Amino acid sequence: MITDQHQRVHDYLRLSLTDSCNFRCTYCMPEENISCMPNAHLMQPDEIEQIARTFVKLGVKKIRLTGGEPLVRKEAPQIIGQLGKLPVELSITTNGVLVDRFLPVFKKAGIRSLNLSIDTLQRDKFKKITRRDRLEKVWENILLLVEEGIHVKLNVVLMKGVNDEEVMDFIQLTRELPLYVRFIEFMPFDGNRWENENVITARQVLDRVEQEVSFIKLKDEKHATAKKFKLLDAVGTFAFITTMSEPFCGDCNRMRLTADGKMKNCLFSRDEADILGTLRRGEDIVPVIKMCMWNKHAKMGGQFSETYEKTDGASIDNRSMIKIGG
Ligand code: SAM
Ligand code: SF4
Repeated sequence: MITDQHQRVHDYLRLSLTDSCNFRCTYCMPEENISCMPNAHLMQPDEIEQIARTFVKLGVKKIRLTGGEPLVRKEAPQIIGQLGKLPVELSITTNGVLVDRFLPVFKKAGIRSLNLSIDTLQRDKFKKITRRDRLEKVWENILLLVEEGIHVKLNVVLMKGVNDEEVMDFIQLTRELPLYVRFIEFMPFDGNRWENENVITARQVLDRVEQEVSFIKLKDEKHATAKKFKLLDAVGTFAFITTMSEPFCGDCNRMRLTADGKMKNCLFSRDEADILGTLRRGEDIVPVIKMCMWNKHAKMGGQFSETYEKTDGASIDNRSMIKIGG
């Protein structure tokens, strides 16, 4: 069992496969000086399997592959295949542009649920946010996944003045399609020019939505980061991930491994533990994992002010999101 000094049990690992990506989302990565880690610095497929097996022995029940874009890693099919054999729920967070090519790999690995990021339903805005003109392909792939019976959660990062006017359009999608939309509050990371006034909170959005449609609150699952709602006549749901306005640290069960094998006990942790280096030296990684998690701060990596309005994004010492693995 992996616990911390605040009595939280950690059984969910988010594992990054790469820090490179076929998109260039403005909120995720710096505009300049983008360099990717050389392949030799990344955890290799057999190392990933060995590390993942250790986490499973320590009680991990769920592994999510992320990045960067996990599906651009050339060994992604092999890694997904290897992890698919472990006794865990395996899932992926992806920008969706390559998922059609991966369907057979997902099926073979037993992946039945995906998180797919899409921040706008408008082509020009999509191009501005991701710096790529791929909305049509991403939407096609969303429909393909639905047709294949895969549970699709749509991740939408809400930024005031950028895409917050589209909230109702996303919610309307859930009427007819089994899509599970999750609005994520905009978070500060290295190089993403976060300002607290760009955050639009769940409460602010819900106040607007309440003026337009009738919906109900659903029961949230244990350890859920998202607060779930549903239109009365909808097949899908919508939810809010309130990291900035109402952090859910008290119930956190997550651990993160960057693509270069550094462990972060929190998305916002300053400190990292070198799991890959320890493994490559032939040493036992278990004490390193346990010590890293034991030292987890009670809240937000110990780096935030009491409220997001008082937080200075520039003072937070962390990697960019693309180099952490969201
Ligand atoms: N490339 C994949 C994707 O876009 O889904 C996986 C990696 S991405 C870093 C993981 C998730 O982090 C995405 O849903 C993305 O929208 C979210 N994300 C990135 N930067 C963020 C930020 N500044 N605030 C909130 N969410 C962010
Ligand atoms: Fe790439 Fe995902 Fe970051 Fe966008 S959010 S740049 S798709 S890693």
